[in-house]
Amino acid sequence: MARAEILSIGTELLLGQILNTNSQFLSQELAKLGIDCLWNTTVGDNKQRIKECVFQALNHAEIVITSGGLGPTTDDLTHESLAELFGVQMQLDQDTLQQIKAFFRKRGLPMPESNRKQAMRPDGSNLLPNPMGTAPCIILKVNGQLLQRIGVDNPDIARYIITFPGVPAELKTMWSATAASFLSSVFDSGIIWSCDLKHYGIGESALAEMHLGLMHKTNPTVAPYAGNGECRLRVTAKAESVEKAQDLARPIIEEIISRSGNLFYGFNDSTLESVVGNLLKSKQLSLATAESCSGGLLSKRLTDIAGSSAYTKLNLITYSNEAKEKFIGVSRATLEEFGAVSAQCAQEMAQGVAKTVGSDLGLSITGIAGPDGGSEEKPVGLVYIGLYHHKPNQEGKDGSRLKTLQLAPNLTRSEIRYRSTSEALNLLRLYLLDLEQNIG
Ligand code: ATP
Ligand code: MG
Repeated sequence: MARAEILSIGTELLLGQILNTNSQFLSQELAKLGIDCLWNTTVGDNKQRIKECVFQALNHAEIVITSGGLGPTTDDLTHESLAELFGVQMQLDQDTLQQIKAFFRKRGLPMPESNRKQAMRPDGSNLLPNPMGTAPCIILKVNGQLLQRIGVDNPDIARYIITFPGVPAELKTMWSATAASFLSSVFDSGIIWSCDLKHYGIGESALAEMHLGLMHKTNPTVAPYAGNGECRLRVTAKAESVEKAQDLARPIIEEIISRSGNLFYGFNDSTLESVVGNLLKSKQLSLATAESCSGGLLSKRLTDIAGSSAYTKLNLITYSNEAKEKFIGVSRATLEEFGAVSAQCAQEMAQGVAKTVGSDLGLSITGIAGPDGGSEEKPVGLVYIGLYHHKPNQEGKDGSRLKTLQLAPNLTRSEIRYRSTSEALNLLRLYLLDLEQNIG
């Protein structure tokens, strides 16, 4: 399988001033082509170091992809570094110069002299036209003679260097316009297919332990990832075609789903809110929410889903005690005796908001998001989630659930708010799944 190295060039990247989204994009695209990206290097705008990195990359990989350093300014050094490394001249390309001149003419501007530099490229390279900008990119096929001359290992294997502009939109356009098809024609090496199995309610290491037997497989591979209080297992298979990769992955995916049970909630782009939305829709149940500490985030997440109007009845932010009393009928006695952050209040909020609007279900969140406002008895991160289900045909059998969370108090305010909403969505998801099982 062909190997690639991505070389991101730019001092801004090293200083942490910008995020290296180009490398993320290129890594994903290489995987789609079935090209192994084994090295990902970042270097500043420095000719000597760029040359060193390209030299190392040629030892590591057959394909070297650079991003950045193609502009007209003196710190744009990618092509010059390549020319120096291979001991070839920079040549002026008349066609490119005319294109750059035309680019400025169209905008009614004179071409700055510095832009002439962009019409220069290392001798022996081929141009990749750039439909979006003035920076010309190149494909340089490095043959055995050149490789031998500079002392690269295994000079009998040809190498390809492809240079891209740093501006992400230009890089993406050029990738799909020319580079992707070029690479897949030269390196016809199958594809990599992967699939995320999203989980909620278990930590990364516990999830890995649960599926320990799968963690050391090679094709497909299974790897755990965590973030935002959630976990996923990524199953990745390499094969000649998508269908064959899916055939390899299918039994593993089935095994994971069966062992994970309700901890697994969906594939790839599924979210807790989209899964809950689908369950509500399929059961034709409506929902109302009352939020305190999450300040509307639950409502936002629920209504981020297109078509959520099918089940959303009313989403209220009842932040003050007055609002809890006035709009959703939380009793003064509850507020006085137990406080707004209490199991009793959460339950009354869920029931109250459902009754106010006549929805089947009510979901509530009340807690202490911090950083202030905690006490010994009620610390920051204490959150109560109430769920109420009005079942009109079964008198006296309304359903309710309550979840008490003690989130780590060192989480930020926004993390506590976000996790509270995830827990609320998950409580509702599990309840709806139970309904499904009870009904059969
Ligand atoms: P220009 O012609 O604009 O100078 P260039 O090819 O020389 O383009 P750079 O000067 O390195 O590219 O970067 C231009 C801009 O593109 C940077 O200011 C930054 O905003 C963005 N950029 C560069 N590299 C990356 C990267 N790896 N990931 C995301 N954005 C990047
Ligand atoms: Mg630049």
